[in-house]
Amino acid sequence: MINSRGGKDGSRNFNFKRMKRNRATVIYSVDRFDRIISVNREWVQVAYEYELEQLFTDRIIGQNLWRYLAKGVTQDLYRMVMERIRKTGEDVAFELRCDLPEKRRLYRLSMSLGDESSIIFRVDPVEFENRPEQEFFRSIVLGGKSELVNMCSWCCRFKGQDGSWLEVEDFVALTPGTMSSDSTRISHSMCGDCYHRLTETSAR
Ligand SMILES: [Zn+2]
Repeated sequence: MINSRGGKDGSRNFNFKRMKRNRATVIYSVDRFDRIISVNREWVQVAYEYELEQLFTDRIIGQNLWRYLAKGVTQDLYRMVMERIRKTGEDVAFELRCDLPEKRRLYRLSMSLGDESSIIFRVDPVEFENRPEQEFFRSIVLGGKSELVNMCSWCCRFKGQDGSWLEVEDFVALTPGTMSSDSTRISHSMCGDCYHRLTETSAR
């Protein structure tokens, strides 16, 4: 379970409100060679809503999934999980966060085996919570020479100066200079909690 929902480490205990039922479930699938072979209508809606041109259907069908996943531990985990699904036929599911500046969003990613060793990915919204807009997200840029900050891609927490992983509000409050910089570079990594959570899930 994600630590931010009341973790052992004393992190904030957020009271996620049950979200409305009509939130869309995004579904996509890859073939035995990990090429993206289908995306549902909700995928297309999200791509247009956030103007993610590289995710428009005509650009993404036929592309290799690995192009879109962060190299390193993220790719390693997906490979491990996908290999296991293809070997055992068992579903795997875990929760992950994908926040917006003004919203905490918790999703459940389920992966299951389809025909001919394809894998179907299903992303269900679980809980959303509004919050005051976090200006810090606006300063995030890709590339450049600005200060580098580690963010866990799975729980959206940031690595503080003492090495602990913090919700954005705590990170900004505890890290001098975060708000004075107008550009922050993000390194997408994975915190220890998420690593254990996901390896446990996939090793079951
Ligand atoms: Zn994490």
